[in-house]
Amino acid sequence: MARIGFVGLGNMGGPMARNLLKAGHQVAGYDLVPAALEAFAAGGGTAAASAAAAAAGADFVVTMLPAGKHVRDAWLGAGGMAAAAAPAAILIDCSTIDVDTARAVAAEAGRPMLDAPVSGGTMGAEAGTLTFMVGGPDGAFASAQPILAAMGRTIVHCGTAGAGQAAKVCNNMMLAANMIIASEALVLAEKLGLSHRALFDVVSKSSGQSWAMTTYCPVPDLVPTSPANRDYRPGFAGALMLKDLRLSQEAAKSAGAATPLGAEALALFERFVAEGGGETDFSGIIRMLRGG
Ligand code: NAD
Repeated sequence: MARIGFVGLGNMGGPMARNLLKAGHQVAGYDLVPAALEAFAAGGGTAAASAAAAAAGADFVVTMLPAGKHVRDAWLGAGGMAAAAAPAAILIDCSTIDVDTARAVAAEAGRPMLDAPVSGGTMGAEAGTLTFMVGGPDGAFASAQPILAAMGRTIVHCGTAGAGQAAKVCNNMMLAANMIIASEALVLAEKLGLSHRALFDVVSKSSGQSWAMTTYCPVPDLVPTSPANRDYRPGFAGALMLKDLRLSQEAAKSAGAATPLGAEALALFERFVAEGGGETDFSGIIRMLRGG
């Protein structure tokens, strides 16, 4: 049993913190939103009075916050958690943020720190089946593994600080491009008089195969897990995909990498969100590509 401070009890952090409680850990949680804190306390957690109070005395301190500026403020700002945490505490940021901020916060925190963004969405957070992509020192990774295992099923140590965020932006850039090209192929098939089923049956066994097509197919009635079956209710919202594509392009720019398809995917998702797709599942981009 470990003492854990958990800050950011939103759509992802709430269920992740509950899974830590279920695994028998003692969890002190904090969120700026009182309702999130009350829901956490109602589930058996200890409500802390501040982020620093959640961090004080903990063996592990976890954050699950919206973006880089929230992570920097929470860890390093006035009354920050890095100073409040015990010298031996292991800090784990599970938020999806830019690689440069992840590296800078880890360097300035003065404590062993891991960046550990996730994939698997709110369903994976509820079920405890998230994938963690982890960057940071070997020793901290080894110590944190049982904590991450209480919230996820697949845990990959990707390298030093920032490597987890690097893996996340690369994965989601591929996911966006795969979803766009799967959608374009389905729309082209429609124009060519080829049924969705026929294209799906060929592609799912051929070299055009992708997770976007076979697990998350952007048209209804082919894959049970597909948001297309429920009128594109998320799932993974267009606004979150847009956020991750912006992070991938920031990373590409900062690293001097050419990612022309990633840049085009960003432009298409910017249009999708501008046209009202932000709250729709990201696979709903097929409707924009169809022109409907
Ligand atoms: P969310 O907005 O539901 O939760 C964020 C929580 O952080 C909110 O409850 C907010 O009040 C709290 N917060 C913000 N600043 C704070 C502070 N200084 N102190 C304490 N609490 C603070 O967001 P979410 O969907 O849970 O996403 C969290 C992170 O996980 C994001 O980086 C997101 O990109 C990433 N992510 C989300 C999903 C998803 O499907 N929702 C999937 C993978 C990764």
